[in-house]
Amino acid sequence: MPSHDNRTGMLYIIGIGPGSPDQLTGQAREALLKSDVIIGNDTYLEQIGSLIGGKEIIRSSMGQEVERAKRSIELSRSRIVSMVSGGDAGIYGMASIVLEVLEHEQSGIPVEVIPGVTAATAAASLLGSPLSGDFATLSLSDLLTPIEVIERRLHAAFSMGTPVVLYNPKSRGRPHNFALAMEIAGKYRQAATPVGIVKNAYRGGEEIMVTTLGEIGRAEGKVDMHTTVIVGGEESRIWRNGDDVKGIITPRGYHRKYLY
Ligand code: SAH
Repeated sequence: MPSHDNRTGMLYIIGIGPGSPDQLTGQAREALLKSDVIIGNDTYLEQIGSLIGGKEIIRSSMGQEVERAKRSIELSRSRIVSMVSGGDAGIYGMASIVLEVLEHEQSGIPVEVIPGVTAATAAASLLGSPLSGDFATLSLSDLLTPIEVIERRLHAAFSMGTPVVLYNPKSRGRPHNFALAMEIAGKYRQAATPVGIVKNAYRGGEEIMVTTLGEIGRAEGKVDMHTTVIVGGEESRIWRNGDDVKGIITPRGYHRKYLY
């Protein structure tokens, strides 16, 4: 029995967070529970498996984003559809393409974008507080952005002196972009600058590593497409407890105003 009549559909574009359902927001959970159809790729569907039993599931694969966007819109004419993306759907995710196709079709289907915990904040939390104030994020994926543009933006981002978060640091198709980014970082930052490497934040296979820009060559093997890299800013430092490295702190500046 269809649960909704024609023209009473709805489309949710949901960021489901970095991994465990513990990182899914209450709003995302409610939208998923209300939905008739869930669309996403396997990794994301697995992530929310416990919440979507009994619903119609449409699995799609990487590289079929436009098809997936069209399909979700088509279905949401008469049903409640959730399109799921990892992290936040509006950050290197599916939200923009769905909204672009929706706008092109001028169909007036109600749509709601639901925020999620993005990789930058998930990785930052596991490292302590490396972001704290201003920071920049860049994706090193050249699938949709030409490498020359990425290179120009890397210079701009590192020249700001703030921490820089790198999404999509490496994949089989583009193994060299990460080394290029580190070379550019080295032009603007000291060798002692802390670098945090977080793989599979809040999901199976989680690994957290803290190194420095000068030593990054040795850690490069750890970096892959499941990893987020945070390069510290001019004021970032390694957070220690005795000899133990706990993570990275970027002071917000309280030390300039208060004694503690
Ligand atoms: N929309 C997602 C980002 C998609 S781009 C978000 O908001 O988080 C894919 C990149 O995100 C990966 O290459 C990796 O750099 C980062 N990423 C996503 N999930 C991650 C996780 N659980 N741990 C570490 N990095 C992650």
